[in-house]
Amino acid sequence: MAGIAVLCEVQGGEVARGSIGVLEEAARLGAALGESVDAIVCGSGLDDAKLAALGGFGATTVRVADDALLASGIAQPVVDACATAQEAGGYRYWLAAASIMTADALAGLAARLGAGIVIDAVELHAEGGALVTRRSGLGDSVLAHCGFTSTVGVVVTRANAFAATDGNGGTAPVERFAPTFRAWSQAVTLVGHEDAVETGPDISAADVLVAGGRGLGDASGFGQIEELATAFGGAVAATRAVVDAGWYPYSAQVGQTGKTVTPKLYVACGISGAIQHKVGMQGSGTIVAINKDKNAPIFDYADFGIVGDLNAVVPQLTALVKARG
Ligand SMILES: Cc1cc2nc3c(=O)[nH]c(=O)nc-3n(C[C@H](O)[C@H](O)[C@H](O)COP(=O)(O)OP(=O)(O)OC[C@H]3O[C@@H](n4cnc5c(N)ncnc54)[C@H](O)[C@@H]3O)c2cc1C
Repeated sequence: MAGIAVLCEVQGGEVARGSIGVLEEAARLGAALGESVDAIVCGSGLDDAKLAALGGFGATTVRVADDALLASGIAQPVVDACATAQEAGGYRYWLAAASIMTADALAGLAARLGAGIVIDAVELHAEGGALVTRRSGLGDSVLAHCGFTSTVGVVVTRANAFAATDGNGGTAPVERFAPTFRAWSQAVTLVGHEDAVETGPDISAADVLVAGGRGLGDASGFGQIEELATAFGGAVAATRAVVDAGWYPYSAQVGQTGKTVTPKLYVACGISGAIQHKVGMQGSGTIVAINKDKNAPIFDYADFGIVGDLNAVVPQLTALVKARG
């Protein structure tokens, strides 16, 4: 077995940013392990020229299965396509960013191949010539290091665990293949679906997040957080402690029971940095922490730390950001 396959999801004709983030992480892993990386794309009416651009994110080859069954919203035909790709490619590892479709599809693939599977991985490492993942467990109180004893290893990473870059503009050859669909894969049809209606800002898409915690004192403390976020052109995030206290809506919660975010800049104000918060934002590009306690855990993983009273620091920071236009 050799090589890494990354199942890339297409949404609205575009490859999902989460898939691209995992593809780039797979390329880093592949370089360390000496393994090539193929992007596997399943869908209907796919545009080869667009998919070739996955070469700019680390794909050696883009392997495409194009069939109406693969756009049906049912995972089983995608399992068939992945199994066909595996027969031809003999991949050592399969990776995907978690979504309803990819998690089901790779779980099905692992079952079909008799492969080990790690769900909810947040880090991928090359150790001793093999892939060893990190996944949180026991209510995010431990980080388990999980490798594989099976010939093929399958990993579904936590959604948004790896931020995508803009790529290097390169391209890769696109090869089409015809999946062998099993009869049972075509025995179900999706008759409709409804999207959940979410209120509040979409913090998953923001380049800059300014996050507030219990150190704000009360709900009114979010006024200065919103002002700083606006100055940056970003959005506001929150810890579970303040969401539970009713200071800010749940749609802004980051962490184990909230969203996983990977902005370019994450400014944590009055946040202790508990592990359950960390798992939702540790993939941010640059982390800045403002906390009056120099021993706060967040300083262990922040890139820049300001020890001080946020009520003094945040307004000054806002004025500086506004002054720079
Ligand atoms: C199963 C489970 C799931 C969880 N899920 C999540 C989750 O999804 N997201 C999440 O965030 N948490 C989650 N938690 C809760 C988590 O354990 C922490 O309790 C929470 O993150 C703490 O929030 P906080 O940092 O706002 O508050 P605190 O831990 O109380 O920290 C407040 C910080 O503010 C600082 N501070 C106080 N005043 C000032 C000031 N004037 N200026 C500067 N700094 C100041 C203090 O020094 C302190 O470090 C979960 C917990 C469990 C058990």
